[in-house]
Amino acid sequence: MATTDTSKLRADLETERTDLSRQLSELEKDGSAAPDFDENFADSGQVAAEQNENLTLAANFRDQLAEVEAALRRLDAGTYGYCEVCATAITDVRLEAMPATRFCIDHA
Ligand SMILES: [Zn+2]
Repeated sequence: MATTDTSKLRADLETERTDLSRQLSELEKDGSAAPDFDENFADSGQVAAEQNENLTLAANFRDQLAEVEAALRRLDAGTYGYCEVCATAITDVRLEAMPATRFCIDHA
């Protein structure tokens, strides 16, 4: 990690956090809106399936967002870039590809 430019990683993580927050709020906006379908035409089964899909997506985004925020906290704390299992420094290549990762390649 000593040679890694953490400001770039931080910028990547912050971009990802912004993207995830936006996608999440768009999903929640859709999901929480009163169902405005016409009962004569709407297939309620399909509506339910779409809502379920949105919930799954939202949960997914929320998980990713939590990972990104945790990575930013580790950057602040100076503990970023070490595997949580074996405490080995995670390779720069891996961190660049997956900035929010908490594990080395062996423990991914
Ligand atoms: Zn490890």
